[in-house]
Amino acid sequence: MKIFVIANQKGGVGKTTTTINLGAALANKGKKVLLIDLDPQANLSSGVGFTQQFDKKSWNSTQEAPYKSIYDVLVNSTEIPSVFVTTSTPNLFLVPSHLSLAGAEIEMVNMLARETLLRKALTKVEKNIDIVLIDCPPSLGLLTINALSAADKLLIPIQCEYFALEGLGQLIETTKLIKGINPSLSIGGVILTMYDSRTKLSSSVVSDVQEFFKESAFKSIVPRNVRLSEAPSHGKTIFQYDSKSTGAQAYEDLAEEFIKRFF
Ligand code: ADP
Ligand code: MG
Repeated sequence: MKIFVIANQKGGVGKTTTTINLGAALANKGKKVLLIDLDPQANLSSGVGFTQQFDKKSWNSTQEAPYKSIYDVLVNSTEIPSVFVTTSTPNLFLVPSHLSLAGAEIEMVNMLARETLLRKALTKVEKNIDIVLIDCPPSLGLLTINALSAADKLLIPIQCEYFALEGLGQLIETTKLIKGINPSLSIGGVILTMYDSRTKLSSSVVSDVQEFFKESAFKSIVPRNVRLSEAPSHGKTIFQYDSKSTGAQAYEDLAEEFIKRFF
């Protein structure tokens, strides 16, 4: 089982979109893939169709959540296998998030070994999972630190826009610090997202990133594609929503490159 964390403290760079669709592409290739939603916004969980069956708006923080989530794993020591759900894609499994996770960082502060709660929980995952992909919130707080502590490889999605490289220093510094508790962590790759071939800006970001990260940058680049942004509101992966789209093709290529690189 190889564990990957998808992180970038910037929001809106394509973390969740990449987790869902890279995960689905790998599952379509026969890998058993577990997606972990570590963002209280739960966009990953709704993007694969899970939370659509629950009424999110009526929940308030004094109530118990309507389903078990990663919150229970981190805060109540619930074992991951009892929080697992299947998705409509064969081989693709989910540990969902819930808005209650928003309070978890505070609840975790006084817990013993608070940085490694997720790592400990993942040791209980059954042996038949090949790949774990952890989707992070847009911050470098305790949740992201738990993901970095649990992972073998860090994948960094970078949006092809002007300030793309800004703030990455902080992520790389944090990664170096985490090596103290998780020596096996290293950068697995950089994934360029939302590439727009009509703009000079996009191609200059691509060359900057390739120069900076060298062969760490994946050659498969994800284009800006409206189908990718529509799919999650239907609770579908891009392969279920529009398998002929440029977005689907890009994540298919990325998955192939990913398998060559790591397996
Ligand atoms: P993050 O998880 O880093 O915050 P998301 O994956 O949620 O980023 O993406 C931010 C927004 O951009 C979402 O509305 C998503 O649907 C959209 N989006 C992501 N990737 C693409 C893409 N390649 N083309 C078009 N829209 C995209
Ligand atoms: Mg997200």
